[in-house]
Amino acid sequence: MNQPNPQEERGRKDLDIQGYFRSRHPAKTIDYSSYNENMILECSFCDWKGTPEGHIEYYDGLFDVSCPNCDKMLLIVTYS
Ligand SMILES: [Zn+2]
Repeated sequence: MNQPNPQEERGRKDLDIQGYFRSRHPAKTIDYSSYNENMILECSFCDWKGTPEGHIEYYDGLFDVSCPNCDKMLLIVTYS
């Protein structure tokens, strides 16, 4: 009774494809001087478009903006 469930297998493969896609389309990195809170970001993964507001995560020396729809990292902004 240890046969793999075909549906589960398929789910796992979809996840791998997403990971592959994300690694092939890394987030754009810009300097804070080029950043504008009203800039429109586009997600290449799910076609979401919008401003960074509300989707920002702050770290030491940088922050990133992730797609609210599929969680793909869209933009990395560094302070210099
Ligand atoms: Zn997305």
